[in-house]
Amino acid sequence: MLPIERGLEIVMSVAKVKDRPDRMLAEIVPLRDAVRRILRENVLSDADSPPFDKAIRDGFAVRFEDLKPIPAVLSVVGESRAGRAADVTVEHGQCCEIMTGAPLPAGANAVVMVENTERISPSSVRILKATQENEGLLRRGAEARQGELILRPGRPIGLADLGLLAGTGKSTVLVSSKPNVAVIATGDELVEVEETPKPDQIRNSNSYTICAQVEEAGARPLPLGIARDNLDDLRHKIRQGLEHDILIVSGGVSMGKYDLVAKAFAEFGVEILFDKIAMKPGKPTVFGHRGQTYVFGLPGNPISTMVAFHMFVRPLILFLLKADNTAPKILDAKLETPAKCDPERAALVPALVRFDAGQYWIRTAPWKGSSDLVGLSRANALIMIPRRSGTLEAGENAQFLLME
Ligand code: AMP
Ligand code: MG
Repeated sequence: MLPIERGLEIVMSVAKVKDRPDRMLAEIVPLRDAVRRILRENVLSDADSPPFDKAIRDGFAVRFEDLKPIPAVLSVVGESRAGRAADVTVEHGQCCEIMTGAPLPAGANAVVMVENTERISPSSVRILKATQENEGLLRRGAEARQGELILRPGRPIGLADLGLLAGTGKSTVLVSSKPNVAVIATGDELVEVEETPKPDQIRNSNSYTICAQVEEAGARPLPLGIARDNLDDLRHKIRQGLEHDILIVSGGVSMGKYDLVAKAFAEFGVEILFDKIAMKPGKPTVFGHRGQTYVFGLPGNPISTMVAFHMFVRPLILFLLKADNTAPKILDAKLETPAKCDPERAALVPALVRFDAGQYWIRTAPWKGSSDLVGLSRANALIMIPRRSGTLEAGENAQFLLME
């Protein structure tokens, strides 16, 4: 059985060979649709930011040298407001009323906030507190210079990036096109969510979780419904799925008599690179490829499917999107309860994590195994328990994946 890291290396090495420059194109999208997409262009600031010396307080623009001794009485020679600069020069002994976001008038070199002043008359003000040069203002270009590189390709566009793009006049943005990911659920026992299962049936939940994971990773899910546990049905659906960038089949990959997915993959000439990972849950995870399509068979149990997706499919999607960072995000915590290790397989166990006193603390959550969505939904993380003998003791460090 392959360790998780080795499995991931195999997926990525296939992707590196297969990913031709003309695949996974980029497309131009309106800014409003750009959040969370992967940026594919260098973005330069179209102007100095801020574009002028700008007040960041409401108050009075002054010459800081005038505020010795304090209090100091200054004459008010104008008003500068956001969107309407004052056409004055502040001379010795003078000041200009100013609002946040307004341009600093010539001659002034600091802004005293209104809380530290006392208006004496319409034309004079008493300044109660001294100030330093450049206090209460931001100089032109302090955040970025015109032509400066402010965003590089490969970033997922975050909220700050979105605001930055808007601020620099990018109404459209070049981002990676979304890979198409076909999703097939398998099983004679499955019914759709709207249906009432008979005593020996269950509802198809994997199609929902996988499609949501595909979307979260930045790709486009194409749910192809349920294939029954017979070769005809599997062939029919797999043929459709192989038309897309990635095909994910859930269930039917274990050792049962009706686990026919591997056989169906073989019929289509899918080259299988692994079919077992030393991981619990998620052992019967299958990965292969055919032509331009990456093919996954994920174990049917709901938690196994989710975990296997997270470890192997998500990094592949991020790679195809040309994202800078493709690795699963793994964090460190102190273990609050002991956790038993398995010498055969690394385990990913539902857990409760909290942040306290500058670090994460984690303990395993009650759960009944790889089908227990109730247990998982009450957890907020998955602890990664290393493949080894013995026990990970309370107080030891443990790695975990944070779940949303
Ligand atoms: P399998 O990998 O096909 O042997 O399935 C393992 C377990 O996962 C069985 O209990 C299945 O009923 C269950 N299962 C398989 N597919 C799904 C699905 N799409 N939604 C929910 N449970 C599933
Ligand atoms: Mg099955």
